[in-house]
This record gives sequence, structure tokens and C-alpha cells, in this order.
Amino acid sequence: MLTFDPEGMSAAQRQGDACVVCHKRWPRPRVRVGRFPDDMTALACADCAEALLPAPLATVVAFPAR
Ligand SMILES: [Zn+2]
Repeated sequence: MLTFDPEGMSAAQRQGDACVVCHKRWPRPRVRVGRFPDDMTALACADCAEALLPAPLATVVAFPAR
């Protein structure tokens, strides 16, 4: 679970109304990518969440078995 630093983030981002990565408010961010030190949930849009939380499959690709 990632912890995000609310410093420099907008109120909308801290309240889960905007993506914590790209500030996008619409479509509404709905993927929980972590939390803030005060236990508020950090939400990101699908695109950013994918970049933040790479699929487990990516790890397999990065370390191929011989
Ligand atoms: Zn985003």
C-alpha cells in the first residue's frame, strides 16, 4: 500500500475527487492506489493506477525463467 504525501496536492485530490497523479476530475478516479498519512484514501484514474500498480504479469516478464 502506497502512502501519498498530501503536500502540494489540491483539496480535490486529497478528498478523492481528483486523480492523485494527473489531477483529472472526470471520469472520477475510482481505483484505490494508496492512502494519505491521515488515512484518507488516495484515488487514481484507471490509466494512472495501471502505471502505479503494474500488473503482476509484468514482473514475470521482467524476470524470465531460464
Ligand atoms: Zn490519473
